Amino acid sequence: MELIFLGYPGSGKGTQAKLLSDQLTIPQISTGDILRDAVASGTPLGLEAKKYMENGDLVPDEVVIGLVDERLQQPDAQKGFILDGFPRTIAQAVQLDAILEKQHRSIKIVIFLKVPKATVIERLTSRRTCLKCHRVYNMITDPPPPDGVCDRCGEKRYIVQREDDNEQTVRTRLDVYESQTRPLIEYYREQGKLVLIDGSQTIPEVQEQIQRNLRN
Ligand code: AMP
Repeated sequence: MELIFLGYPGSGKGTQAKLLSDQLTIPQISTGDILRDAVASGTPLGLEAKKYMENGDLVPDEVVIGLVDERLQQPDAQKGFILDGFPRTIAQAVQLDAILEKQHRSIKIVIFLKVPKATVIERLTSRRTCLKCHRVYNMITDPPPPDGVCDRCGEKRYIVQREDDNEQTVRTRLDVYESQTRPLIEYYREQGKLVLIDGSQTIPEVQEQIQRNLRN
């Protein structure tokens, strides 16, 4: 199964992609996580990406496309994958189609999680992230343990507010989404691959609707 999650930052793509990845035993490929790991380890890719990410801008297409091309060739991605945060521009989507065509496969379904803008601003500014294992917490609905030890990976001191989750950068990221990413909805609708799901429901409710759509 080749799948994409589409939607605003904070729409629940990462959360739902992780749940589905565990269920289908296919990898969740988050370009944001790959880039954050590169920034944390100070690789040349990380140094290049850091300045864009801090400002809430997109990392250049050719950089991200190269990353995804390489990742999709890994053995664990051969029976399927879930893309989370990629593609984010039409150019990325067109290149993705070309990469997959060479591998004699294609995207089967694009799940668009629709959430009001005010909701994602609230979710993102109260979000906390474990930079070690990528587990996401929310200060209101799912706060991190008081001792700061991540309940997924057991590591201490890695749970932080992402630098780009402050309100000003969140607003920039949402503007970037409107101008560069929103056109993808039409791109995939025209291909008959788009499934719209109300992402403002609870995590189990959204999960259930995704399952129902996949069964159909
Ligand atoms: P995310 O974790 O998906 O919210 O991504 C965090 C940041 O990483 C974004 O704001 C961008 O700066 C960068 N990024 C992640 N995915 C992409 C992509 N597909 N294209 C360009 N930049 C990306």
